[in-house]
Amino acid sequence: MNKNKVIRSQQLRFMVYTLIAFTILFGIFGTIIFGQIKTTLYAKTDTDLNSYKMMIESGGRGTNNGTSPDKDPIADKNGFPPPIKNGRPEFNPRVTPIQWSKEGKIMNIHQIGFNESLFSDLKFDPSTIGVITNIKVHNIFHYRTISIPHPTQTGTYVQLMVNVDSEQNLIDNFKRIIIICSIIFILLSITASFILSRKMMKPIIRSWDKQVEFVENASHELRTPLTIIQNKLELLQTTPEKRIIDTFENIALSLSETRRLSRLTTDLLTLARADSTETQLEKQTIDLDEFIHKVCSPYAEIAELSEKHMWLKLHSKIRLEADPARLHQLLVILLDNALKYTGEHDSIGISTFVKENKVFIEVSDTGIGISEAGLSRIFDRFYREDQARSRESGGSGLGLSIAQWIVDSHHGTIQALHNQPKGIIFRIRLPK
Ligand code: ADP
Repeated sequence: MNKNKVIRSQQLRFMVYTLIAFTILFGIFGTIIFGQIKTTLYAKTDTDLNSYKMMIESGGRGTNNGTSPDKDPIADKNGFPPPIKNGRPEFNPRVTPIQWSKEGKIMNIHQIGFNESLFSDLKFDPSTIGVITNIKVHNIFHYRTISIPHPTQTGTYVQLMVNVDSEQNLIDNFKRIIIICSIIFILLSITASFILSRKMMKPIIRSWDKQVEFVENASHELRTPLTIIQNKLELLQTTPEKRIIDTFENIALSLSETRRLSRLTTDLLTLARADSTETQLEKQTIDLDEFIHKVCSPYAEIAELSEKHMWLKLHSKIRLEADPARLHQLLVILLDNALKYTGEHDSIGISTFVKENKVFIEVSDTGIGISEAGLSRIFDRFYREDQARSRESGGSGLGLSIAQWIVDSHHGTIQALHNQPKGIIFRIRLPK
């Protein structure tokens, strides 16, 4: 599939998800705040309505401890003395009580102290019985209301009304602010989602490119030995009369390329498994110095045969939790390289020591060393300072990538440094 197309559609998907997440969060936040403000603003009104309702239901005594005689429940607005509470009149001028007749007519229209026409279009709504509701009068005035059956005059209702224009005004203003903020926030979210989705895509693009590069390099590496083997075999096929001894060189080359292929596929498999984190370490407690001594012994003999000097300074005196097979592989990679990139009379040194609570393993040599640019790329897959020389010696540029993975999986670090006066030092730092 086209890379740019996939990246674009993935980025768009990320952007939409982030935008949805932002919008939902802001929506919840706005709704909670709005709900809270509304409840707080109506709290006092509802208390007034409820206490008035209780007062009416108690037959005008309200919470007057039964000290005053029964009164008409809506007497205060009808010219009757208000109910008494703690010896004082309990009269709430905010509440307007309306008495509805059986026929749905306002019985006290002349006594409620307002312009008669104010409630002229008001109809009794049974859904307000026992429930505090918001209603509009003349489509302009906002009231909070509750209705209850009249306690003494059966079939009639008392509707308590409190004007909440100022509260409604505040709520409308707040609603407007929330809507404007939401629009601004959504516009900002679009920008933020775009930036975030680009940021999120960056590591994916990087790993995609790496993957493509890896596959290209791997195919190239596999193709070269395969082509050689194919050519040599075709040559053999065209000369069937030749004896094996006469074609020995071709057979030997094919065999060496086959071995290279086998090594390469093993390395590729190791790295593929490392990438998928499928490989589990099988850790054991090992005596590090003793272990390294054992791994290095055959290399000391090879070094001697090629007139190189190998020295060991193993002073860590530590027992380490590590996967012995992987640690062995790591040392083999470094020692192989040290032997590959050194000449006669060069020396190769292996040392271990403990410093600042870390275990150090250093593999150094006085060989050809590496350029400054090479030093920073040495652990990259397929990186080879000298393609021809590395290929000649069977190298594919994967060894140090595997070495780095082994060290990483042991929670350590590996570093390549210039050795003085020449050569290279690989410094491995492992947790104790
Ligand atoms: P290769 O199989 O090619 O050796 P590596 O990943 O082991 O692959 O090493 C990558 C490159 O790093 C080598 O091609 C070489 O250029 C450089 N290199 C590794 N070890 C040494 C060393 N001890 N001295 C000099 N160069 C080295």
